[in-house]
Amino acid sequence: LLDALADQAALAVERANLVSDVEKARLDAETDRLRSALLTSISHDLKTPLASILGAAGTLRSFAAALTEDQRGEMLATIEEEALRLNRFIANLLDMTRLESGAIVPNASPTDLAEIVGSAMRRAASILKDHRVEIDLAPDLPMLNVDPVLFEQALFNLLDNAAKYAPAGSLVSLHGWAENGHVTLQVLDEGPGIPDEDVDKVFDKFFRARKQDQVRAGTGLGLAICRGFIEALGGTIAVANRADRSGAVFTIDLPARALAPMLEAAP
Ligand code: ADP
Repeated sequence: LLDALADQAALAVERANLVSDVEKARLDAETDRLRSALLTSISHDLKTPLASILGAAGTLRSFAAALTEDQRGEMLATIEEEALRLNRFIANLLDMTRLESGAIVPNASPTDLAEIVGSAMRRAASILKDHRVEIDLAPDLPMLNVDPVLFEQALFNLLDNAAKYAPAGSLVSLHGWAENGHVTLQVLDEGPGIPDEDVDKVFDKFFRARKQDQVRAGTGLGLAICRGFIEALGGTIAVANRADRSGAVFTIDLPARALAPMLEAAP
């Protein structure tokens, strides 16, 4: 009996090894596939703006004399816009790499939420110029003990998306309040919202929800960075679709330990 059991055990081990070899090969193949999908996606994101820059620069060089002042201005604006897009893309890639390698160490300091909202709004003013904007912050918001740079970047990414995905003329709202030792900040828009089946995936790297979002210039990294930064600050971020109308609601929640300790202790 013992021999038979030993044989069976040996067989089971052999089978398990075989399964893990098969599983390992499957994982290796999946990693290779993801790696080349990533390279394709990054190359595409770099090539598209570069093609516009080269096109505009070439036209300027060959036909400068034949172009009107306005046309030259337009070409230069294209070059600048596309260079800024490249810059943003590379900054996003670097942020993502720093996040993944653990090189981002939050530098927490007592931070006034209203100030962060103000500076993220100022940065986003030009991209939100065709939208209506409403800010509603409770007057009794406590100071937060967070890294203001990371927090502002996370907020900016949400405003950037609201500007990108919600139509011109629609309302982008930012609400903030404190409750039960938590501070909650919401960015609401009146865009298409997130398809229900993708709600869990939008914070994944390189994920873009709709077909048309996959071809438009973006990085698919904005929300992954946003989540990485908010989690580094001890908070959470979630998305839902609005119940009352079309649109997305992004909710950042910061728990008590992100509140400035001296204020938490105050009566
Ligand atoms: P991207 O560079 O594509 O905007 P993000 O990581 O910021 O990358 O967003 C991932 C995807 O989530 C977007 O491609 C889009 O499909 C969807 N998304 C993000 N924000 C919104 C929003 N406010 N409204 C609708 N869809 C959004």
